[in-house]
Amino acid sequence: MVSLTDVSPLRARRNIPCASLFPMTQVFARSKHFLSDKVEHFTESVIREMTRQAMQYNAVNLAQGFPDFSAPAEIKRAAQEAIESDVNQYAITWGAKSLRTAIAKQMQDRQGIEVDPEKEVVVCCGSTEAMIATLLAVCNAGDEVVVFEPFYENYGPDAILSGAKPRYVSLRPPQPSGGEWTFDEQELRHAFQRHTKAIIVNTPNNPTGKVFNRKELELIRDLCVEYNVLAITDEIYEHILYDGSEHISLARLDGMRDRTITINGLSKSYSVTGWRVGWAVAPPAITNAIRKVHDFLTVGAPAPLQEAGAAALNLPANYYRELAERYRTRRDHLIPALEKAGFRCYRPRGAYYVMTDISAFAFASDVEFAAYLVKEIGIACVPGSSFYKHPKDGAQQVRFAFCKKPETLDEAARRLQKLKTHL
Ligand code: GLN
Repeated sequence: MVSLTDVSPLRARRNIPCASLFPMTQVFARSKHFLSDKVEHFTESVIREMTRQAMQYNAVNLAQGFPDFSAPAEIKRAAQEAIESDVNQYAITWGAKSLRTAIAKQMQDRQGIEVDPEKEVVVCCGSTEAMIATLLAVCNAGDEVVVFEPFYENYGPDAILSGAKPRYVSLRPPQPSGGEWTFDEQELRHAFQRHTKAIIVNTPNNPTGKVFNRKELELIRDLCVEYNVLAITDEIYEHILYDGSEHISLARLDGMRDRTITINGLSKSYSVTGWRVGWAVAPPAITNAIRKVHDFLTVGAPAPLQEAGAAALNLPANYYRELAERYRTRRDHLIPALEKAGFRCYRPRGAYYVMTDISAFAFASDVEFAAYLVKEIGIACVPGSSFYKHPKDGAQQVRFAFCKKPETLDEAARRLQKLKTHL
C-alpha cells in the first residue's frame, strides 16, 4: 500500500506543474475524503526534500540554506546559561521582553525606525511562522497577495493556507555580461488590483540574491499607498550584503511605517536555523491580530533561545561586518568553480544563494539535472522550478547555497570537475 509519506515533492512535481497551484497525485485523490482542499494545491518543500536526498546519497548539501559551521560561541553560551538558570517554561506568548527590546533597539539603530517593544513586536517560531501568522492575520478569502517571482517557496503555500491568491510579478535575470535582476514597472502596477491586500518583498532576495534599491522600494511604496495595500517584508538576510549594497527596510520610507509588517529572525544572521526564533514588527492593531494567530498556532517560541537571541542582537557592529565578509569569500569561492564546470551564475548582491543557468548541460529539466547531480556527482542543489509558478520558467535554472565551510565548498568544487568530464 502506498502511504502519503511516499509522495515526495519531486515525484509529485512530475505529475503537477508547480508547488503551489495544481492538483496532487492519485494517492492524495484516493484519500481526498479525509483531506482539506487547501493541501491539494501545494506540495511539501522541495528545498527540504533535497536535504533528505543529500543525506540518502551522501552528497554535499548545497540545497537547503543552513550553515554547516558553528554558531557564535557567545550566543551558544547565552542559551546554555538561560537553560541552566531555568528559563525553561513558556515565555510571554508574544515574546520575552529582553528579545523584544533588543529587536526594537536594532531597528532603531540600523534603520532609524522607532518601535514600541510592548505593542509592535511578535516573536514567533522562526520567520516562517511570522510570515504565515501575518498572512492568516491580515487576509480574507478572495484577497490577493503580490509576490515577486522567482520566490522563496513558502510564500505560495502561505498565501493559499490563509485563503489568499498569489499574483506573481517577474524578476528578470541580468544579461550574461552582468547587472541586476529587475522588474517591469507596468507589470508591477498591473498586479495591484481591487482585491490586493498585500505585497511580499524579500530583500536581500532568496533565490536571486537581488537587493532592492531605494528607487524600486519607492515605487512599491507609491503603489501600496495608492492602492491602500500592506507590505510584508522578509528581511531575514538583512546583514548578508556584498559589493557595497545597502539594505533598506520598506518601513523606513515615508508613508510605509503604518502599512508594513517587517519580518526577520535569528536563523541567518547568527547561524542558528534550528533554533526557530523569528519575529514580526508591525503597527499595534496588526501586531494584535498577529499575536492572536501566533498564540493559537504555537503559544510561543523556545524561551531560553529567546534570551540567547537578545544576546545575539546585542553583538557589536564588527560581528556583522565579519559575517558579510566571510559570506563574500564563500560566494567568490563557489562561483568560479560553478562557472568552470559550465554553469552561468547570476552573481548575488546579498543573501547566500547563487541562481544559475544550466542550459549548457542540455538536460530536459532542472528536476532531472538536480537528480543527476545529487546521485551521480554527489552535490545537492535546488531545482529552479520550485521558485516559479510555472515549472517551465525555472526548467533551466538551479540554486546553490554557499553558507558552508570552505572545505565543504572545496569538496563541491572537486566533485564538480567530474560533472565537466561527464559531458
Ligand atoms: N531559507 C532556506 C532556503 O531557502 C530554507 C529554509 C527552510 O527550509 N525553512 O534554503
